[in-house]
Amino acid sequence: MKNVKILASALILAAIMQSCKEKDNLEPVVSTPEPEKEQAEAKAPLGNPDDVKAEDAAGKFQVAKLGYKYDALEPNIDAATMEVHYSKHYKKYTDELNKAVKGTPQETQSIEDILGKLDLNNKALRNNGGGYYNHTFFWEVLSPGGAKAPAGALAEAINKDFGSFDAFKTQFTEAATKQFGSGWAWLVVDKSGKLVVGSTPNQDNPLMPGVGIAGKPVLGIDVWEHAYYLKYQNKRPDYITAFWNAINWDTVSKKYTAATAK
Ligand code: MN
Repeated sequence: MKNVKILASALILAAIMQSCKEKDNLEPVVSTPEPEKEQAEAKAPLGNPDDVKAEDAAGKFQVAKLGYKYDALEPNIDAATMEVHYSKHYKKYTDELNKAVKGTPQETQSIEDILGKLDLNNKALRNNGGGYYNHTFFWEVLSPGGAKAPAGALAEAINKDFGSFDAFKTQFTEAATKQFGSGWAWLVVDKSGKLVVGSTPNQDNPLMPGVGIAGKPVLGIDVWEHAYYLKYQNKRPDYITAFWNAINWDTVSKKYTAATAK
């Protein structure tokens, strides 16, 4: 009986040792991916903004040159968002605007004149004319380089009309954050020459009559999800924070000068 117990104990011990040995020899089940290869597959090469052209080469409206590369606003505005925004969304507004004005009196007018005299019931012109103007404007105020804060006459006007730059920034950020759904927030010069902040839904803008805010745009932010979803998902406030870092204040100053010129 004693021998049987010893034999049983020895067998159990042997089994445990074998089990440990097998564990030591186990190959990892999940193979380690090759990081470089994975990255290369996930990241398609960026296109060239200069290759983006309106469908109708003879159309009244053409895609405005971006003037910088898709990744030029990184990390604030990511290259993938810039590429789809410029080469797909903006191009589409341009193409649809050309179709909307073809053979109409608007075909010979500037985009500012078209929007200033717009019949809001003309949905094709309202959406695509607005989309064309708003984005053309947006690419300019969002260019790399330039002053990082307002200066000169613009800085003085901001202080005069809002109390301080911070007070203006808070008001503009709030307008952009609270615009429900798709739309834009704006800083405009109204007809009395005063700076005013407001927002518009969809592709409406302050040049259009009867949209709640009127004046000449000086600064604008696109708060459609297509403008930020790839990088910021649902976090619109994070995108708005990043937007402040990507503004070219020299361009904004030039727009202010033009808007206040007699
Ligand atoms: Mn957009």
